[in-house]
Parts: sequence; C-alpha cells; structure tokens
Amino acid sequence: MSELLAASTGDLTHPEPGSVAEWTDRYTHAVMDTFGPPQRVLVRGEGAYVWDADGNRYLDLLGGIAVNCLGHAHPTLTAAISAQLGTLGHVSNFFGSPTQIALAEKLLGLAGAPQGSRVFFTNSGTEANEAAFKMARRNNPEGTRTRVLALEGSFHGRTMGALALTSKAAYREPFEPLPAGVEFLPFGDTDALVAAFSPEVVRERGEVAAFVLEPIQGEVGVRPQPAGYLALARELTARHGALLILDEVQTGSGRTGAWFAYQLPELAPEGFLPDVVTLAKGLGGGFPVGAVLAYGDRAAHLLGRGQHGTTFGGNPVAAAAALATIGVIERDDLLTNVRAVGDHLAETVTGLGHPLVAGVRGAGLLRGIGLASPVAADVAQRALAAGLIVNPVAPDAIRVAPPYLLTRDQVDDLVAFLAELPHDLGQEQ
Ligand code: PLP
Repeated sequence: MSELLAASTGDLTHPEPGSVAEWTDRYTHAVMDTFGPPQRVLVRGEGAYVWDADGNRYLDLLGGIAVNCLGHAHPTLTAAISAQLGTLGHVSNFFGSPTQIALAEKLLGLAGAPQGSRVFFTNSGTEANEAAFKMARRNNPEGTRTRVLALEGSFHGRTMGALALTSKAAYREPFEPLPAGVEFLPFGDTDALVAAFSPEVVRERGEVAAFVLEPIQGEVGVRPQPAGYLALARELTARHGALLILDEVQTGSGRTGAWFAYQLPELAPEGFLPDVVTLAKGLGGGFPVGAVLAYGDRAAHLLGRGQHGTTFGGNPVAAAAALATIGVIERDDLLTNVRAVGDHLAETVTGLGHPLVAGVRGAGLLRGIGLASPVAADVAQRALAAGLIVNPVAPDAIRVAPPYLLTRDQVDDLVAFLAELPHDLGQEQ
C-alpha cells in the first residue's frame, strides 16, 4: 500500500525533467500571462538559496516577496505541515480545530490585543483586506459613515475591494467601477489628514468609516510612514469613531524586527494599538494563510454571523504552518537576527558610497535600496545573472525581503554585487 502510494505520488508531483528554456516555453503556453514570462523556473530551495531547472543557484533576497521568512524547506515547518496534513487536513468552518484556535490566541498575544479581540482567518493578503473593508462598511450605525481613507502610494491587493484601496491608477482603472467611497490622501501629509476629518469636509462628504494604511509602504519602493503620522492617525480616527486599519500583510509576522511594524518605536508610540490589522505573506512561512485581527470588543463584532466567510480560512494545515513559523522565530530568536542583519545591510550598502545608491529605507529585513537613476529593472537583471534575486519595486528602487535566517556573509554578497555596478548606469552618454 505505502509502496503504491509512494510510486504514484512520485509520478504525480515530479514531472519529467526539463531545462529552464523548455519550462519557460511550456509556461507561456499554459499559464495566464498576468506576470509576464518567469525570470527562471525554479525547482528546489534550501535555506536562503533556490535552484533553477538548469541547476543554477541563487541567493533568494526576495523570499517570495516577503513570504519565506524561514527560508526554503525548513525542516520544522515541513514536519509541522506534514504532521497536520496526516492528522486532520481540512474541516469546514462549521467546526473548529486546535491549531486554528491556538493560532488565533497566539496572534492576539503577540499583538498585545486587549480583552474581547478576535481573529478572522483568510488565505491571502487581499482577502484579509476585503474582510477589513467589509468591517469598515459595517462601521456605519447611522448610515452616514460612507468614506474610507487610503493613501497615495498604497498597495492592498488585487481583488475588487482591496483594489479600490490601492492608489495606482493603472491597477484600478481597467476594473472600474470599484466599490465607492475611497479617498486617497497624499503620503505623509498631516494637514491633509486633519482636513479629511474637518467639520466642513465631514458636512460635505460624510463621516469617515475607516482609514486604511501600511505602516511601511512596500510597492512604492519601501517607504515608512513619517514619525508621528500613525499617532496622529490614531488620535483622529479614535476621536471620530473611524476604524484605524493597518495593512501589515508585508510588514507583519516579524519582517521589520518586531512582530508588528506598529510596535517599532520609530513608527508609533509605546502602547499604540490599531482597531484592525491584516496579515498574510510571512505568516505561514510560505504556506498560504492570512488573518484579520480585530482589536477590542467593538471591532471584533462588526462582522456578525453569516456576514463573512471563506471555505479555507482557518484551515488546520495553514494554521499549523503559521504556528510552526512563529514557533521557530521565537525558539531561534530570529527577530534579533532580523534587526542585526537588517542594520548590517543598511550600513554596508550605504557605506559603499556608490554614486548609484541613493540610500536604504525600511526596517529589519524589509529594505528598499534607492537608486540615483531609474535603472531598477536593469539592476535586478544583472543581480539575477550574478546569482542574486532582488525585486525592482519602483523604477528607482530595488526591494529585498529575505529569509530571517540570512547571514551577514550573504548580505555581503549583495554588497559586493552593488559595488561592481557601473557608476554611470542609466546616464545619457
Ligand atoms: N497588502 C500589502 C501591503 C501587500 O504588499 C500585498 C501583496 O503584495 C497585499 C496586501 C496583497 O496580498 P496577496 O498578494 O496575498 O493577496
């Protein structure tokens, strides 16, 4: 029986070997062209490294876009997922499971969430933001809270609600009409934020149901909120009965060196708590899982029975993956490494004094390396050829979001690569 199982599993999950070129050709005929052709077809990973179908090795400084916080094929994570799958793989949400419940409790504990707080589980970041958006719509007892504030430069996902909160017109416009009522405020502009809550604006447009923002914006090249901005947002939303919703899909799960970015002293004052936080990406260490944390009784009961749901949300295997990921981060004190190696990266890249490098932004192991010219795509291509995976996140910035177990030596490989870049890259001859 087990021999039969092993044989059939082998056939099913390991397609016949092929080269990167062959796989890329097959990809273009079988997979929808929403991402463009794959840069490489990858077959295996271990720690901070991945290998392509031709056997080339790459240092994965992108970590599946801030996902693989334990690196690739981490034995504890693999064992936890396998064990849960072999015990109880899926149950409907008419039932609970110990891993789901334990994960909800664990997240609320790490978040410092007060009594009465609750969690809703999803499968991705965009779904977590959909749920948060629906909570904002429910924050409307008198029917006058119709406005939802978001920020220019934001990215919240690709489903219709999350897209409505995402500022980039090129993402939104092909799919209009989107859910209504979203207003975009200029980034870091405290006057604009105060004005959005002013009596005149409220009289004209209605009350604010929620303000949705990322503590560090990712898609515009890793841009932290300026000091004091989150505190002001907290004060105004609290005073006006609006929800403060933090999208920590990218910044959460320890990515910045704290479990949540709002716990970083440079971003928010001691004791700061939002009303809602969304998580995904690194939460399951590579296994798809997301979550919405609702802080306190009021936020926790905005969505009543039957008002929201998802088949897979809270799946026991996904929950086991998240518990194992958090467990390894705690056991191995990886947040200390995130902070130390992240600082080393910022210092050594800045210290290079390379004319093309225009500063390092972000926190922990979520970093944007600014470039003096809009050559990010070219730099990323050169990096790939040199065996390093980075992400051109804006025309003039590359993003790194590597596994939390990254070493200083691995950072130094990136620094050595940057040092070799031609000084005049992208400049007119
Ligand atoms: N929110 C933020 C801040 C993100 O960076 C992303 C993805 O990049 C999302 C939401 C969407 O998450 P997902 O791709 O899991 O739907």
